[in-house]
Formats: sequence, structure tokens, C-alpha cells
Amino acid sequence: MNMTVFRNPANKTTGKVYLVGAGPGDPGLLTLRGAECLARADLILYDGLVNPLHLRHSQASAERTCRADGPTGRVIPQDEINRRLIDAARSGKTVVRLKGGDPFIFGRGSEEAAALSAAGIPFEVVPGITAATAAAVYTGISLTHREHASAVAFVTGHEDPTKSSTLDYGALASFPGTLVFYMGLHRLSAIAGSLIEAGKPPATPACVVSRATQPRQRTITGPLSEIASLAVAADFHAPSLAIIGDCVRMREQARWFEDRPLFGQVIGITRPEEQADDAALRAVELGAFPIMLPTIEIAPPESWSEVDAAISRLNEFDWIIFTSANGVRAFLGRLWKIGHDMRSLANMKIATIGPGTNAALMQYSLRADLVPTEFRAEALAEALRPHVRGSRILWARASRGRDVLLTELAAAGAIITPVVVYLNRDVDCLPAEAIGQIERGELDWIGLSSPSIARNLARLLSNEAKGMLGEKTRLVSISPVTTAAAHEAGMPVSAEATVHTWEGLFQAMIRASA
Ligand code: SAH
Repeated sequence: MNMTVFRNPANKTTGKVYLVGAGPGDPGLLTLRGAECLARADLILYDGLVNPLHLRHSQASAERTCRADGPTGRVIPQDEINRRLIDAARSGKTVVRLKGGDPFIFGRGSEEAAALSAAGIPFEVVPGITAATAAAVYTGISLTHREHASAVAFVTGHEDPTKSSTLDYGALASFPGTLVFYMGLHRLSAIAGSLIEAGKPPATPACVVSRATQPRQRTITGPLSEIASLAVAADFHAPSLAIIGDCVRMREQARWFEDRPLFGQVIGITRPEEQADDAALRAVELGAFPIMLPTIEIAPPESWSEVDAAISRLNEFDWIIFTSANGVRAFLGRLWKIGHDMRSLANMKIATIGPGTNAALMQYSLRADLVPTEFRAEALAEALRPHVRGSRILWARASRGRDVLLTELAAAGAIITPVVVYLNRDVDCLPAEAIGQIERGELDWIGLSSPSIARNLARLLSNEAKGMLGEKTRLVSISPVTTAAAHEAGMPVSAEATVHTWEGLFQAMIRASA
């Protein structure tokens, strides 16, 4: 790799600043280079338009410099942002300045770059997908449709056209192509009025897209003369932009995003925080909006002595059973850490409970010898039964959970040794913001993926939040056992997964929404 090391007069190595475009909101619309920069950052300053899910690419401390939805919270002034970027780089840090869309399109990114340049700080700029093209694509519009537009203009609508605007509305009105206005909604009426006054036909097709590429994306179309009042009547929110031109007509032919099966639904993800990413990203892929509700947490056992003892006598076991991806990572991680490797498992057969556990095994290039067709403890015991009479079985398990395997496999004549390889414990509270969202009826679904999650959720929800369950917010359970635990804790369950995985939970939501 080409690397230039810059030194300041104090002979201290200066860090570097990456001005990174975060794209329009969909967590998949970040560039590979952007993700690389995040992975190596020590500090991230991100703006109000950035989807915080991008932070999963990084371990760094991260701070939001303003909020997308108005003047609540502290907005760090531009001068201070510039100064902090410079100071952090001077102290040797790798800094990512993460900005919505493309950093050089209406985003003051070039001013930040100029400040860094003037201060002699090395920097790199990583382009991003800008809101105009993303909004157009996600709403089904080609800005340069061959039959409708041979040019496209990106226009800032943040200036008030009735005051001293630098925009030439005459030129914009006669522009032979599509106009995209990046703007606050409150400017739309004045913008449309100025265009019409300057000669743009009032019937020109127009479209407003708000929160483009996000599960709460909304689109409204209408003639230019009416689009502002339509958007107000439909209660559109920031950020939003307007697309004006004949290409808007073609939208229905190419729309796709808003037809996703869980489009716009808000789903509470109850998995432990460290493991919620997969489910959250899948929710996004299905068009939904994930809200993190980690009701339990995963932690290493208080002492490893029991696990280490089992690892030292692995040759005595015929089978090892994993009933969760956590169990796989905790056990195999420990095995590696204390100086062994996968060859220690060479003489054992491996049984797992289902696909999530298998996926974790694959990370270690291991394959299960036995997986039940249904992903529950009873089915695993049943599948093992014919193979285990007289066998010695090691079970890498959680600190709590059901004991079905112990009783069933002992009854089948096996000698089973359970070893706790990770703690599964209740968290003491849920994020206050998430509770508020449930209380306000903003969640459509909460997925319950284990009995302990169901029980603890019931304990952590306020009475007001519980009052929303079954009405505004429907609970979907991963299995009959989890449903029973939810019922016992006094919570109604609206749907149950037939396949006992998070994908099964999503499919149950899709069936129930159809
Ligand atoms: N650098 C950004 C633009 C910053 S200006 C980019 O390249 O996209 C902020 C304006 O961008 C907002 O007022 C809004 O008009 C537009 N915008 C940003 N994200 C958007 C989104 N997800 N949906 C609709 N408009 C968006």
C-alpha cells in the first residue's frame, strides 16, 4: 500500500481525515472505501442525515454533529467541526467525517476539505451516493429517461426565492431536462410558484420524495402547481427533495422499493446488541425499519475453569452439541485462545440446532454432522437419539435455557456433560427512546426469539407500552415455547413462526401483513 507519513514540527505523526459520503440512508448504500475508512477510524463525526447503522463498520467513538429533524439537541457549529477535525488529526488520530449523500454536493464538504488543506492536514474524500439519484432510483424514476430528459440539474432549494436568490428561475424554467431540488419542504411552494411565474407549465409532472431509501420513504406525485399543497396535506417530513420533469410520468413502470413485503413497518429487534446486526439488516432489506430492543445480553462466563477442563479432555467425548451461534463462538474462541486449534475436534461428531449455529460453525470451517429438520431442542434430541446410546456428549450451552437435551439424551442412554460457555442474562432497562416509541404506538412488530427474551421484555416494558401490545404493536414469537412464555408473562402473541429462526419471524410478519 502507498502510504505517506506526514510529520508536524513537533515531530509527532499527524493522523488523517477521511471525508466520507454516507449515501442517502439505506445502510447498503455506503461505498467499500467508506466502510474501510470507518473500520480504521479512531474518531467519527457524523451529521444528522447519516444512518447510525453505518457505525457498525467501526469500533471508534462516534459523535453526531447535528440532528436531521430540526433544531433539537446540540448542533456543532461548522467552525468547531473544522477545528475538531484538525485537532484530532494533529494528535495522531484517524478521523472520519461522515456526511449524508455525497460530501461535495450541497454539504459543505468542500469547505471542510479547504480548512484541512489550509491547516496542512492530510485528507482524502470518498464520494457517496447523493440524495437526488438515490431518491429517483428508489422511487422508480430515471432522471435522464431517453424519451423525457437529456439533461438533469441539481438545484439547492434552501435559498428563499422571494428574497435575494442567486438562482435564475428563468433559466431553470426553460432548462430542457429534469430539475431536482434539494430543499426544505417549506420552500416548495415558493419554488414551484417561481418556476411557474418564470414560464414553466403548471401541469409539469412533479414528485416529492421524503426520507428516500429509508423504510419510511414516502413519495407523492402531482402537477407542479399542486405539488406543494399535496406534500403538506400528506404530512411529509424532512429530508425531502423534489423532482420536476416529464420523467416523473414513468414512475409506476419502474417502482420497486415501496413494494417490499414489510415496507414502512417498524420492527423491534430483541436480540442482544452484539448480535442484532443480521436481523436489523434483513429487516431493512424487507423494507422495514429496525428498532433495537436488546432485552438480554451475552457475556463471558465468570470463570473459564470448567470450559478449560472440558477442552483439556476433548478426546473423551464422542459428540459435541452447539445450540446457538454464541455457543460456537464462545467455545471455539476459548479453544483457540488457550492454545488449541480445530484439530482437537477431529474425533468428535458435531450436532447443532439449526442454520444460525451452522453459519457460525462455517466461520471456523466446520460442518455439522447432524442438524434436526426442525430447529428446536426436542427435534435435536429426537434426531440424536438413535446415535447416542452409550456415547459421551459435551454440550456447549448458555447459563440458562431449557434442559430438554439433558433429560432426553440421558433417557436415550447417553452420558451428557453440559458446560456453560457464555452467560445469557437480562438487561436492566431498554433504551428510553425505544420505550417511548412503543408507548406512542410507533412500532408495528416486536420479534420474540426466545422464552427468556419474552419474559424479560414483559418485565422491562412500562404499563403504557404494554397497553399497545396486540393493538398497535403485534408480538410475533419464534416457537410454541416462546409463545407460552409470552402468554404466561401476560402478553398477547399475534403470530408464530413456523421455521424457528429470525427469518421465520420475518416470514410470519409478512404472512400476517398480507
Ligand atoms: N450531501 C447531501 C445533501 C446535503 S443537503 C447529498 O449529497 O445528498 C441536505 C438536503 O439533501 C436535504 O434538505 C434534502 O433535500 C436532501 N436529502 C438528503 N438525504 C435525503 C433523503 N434521504 N431523502 C430525500 N432528500 C434527502
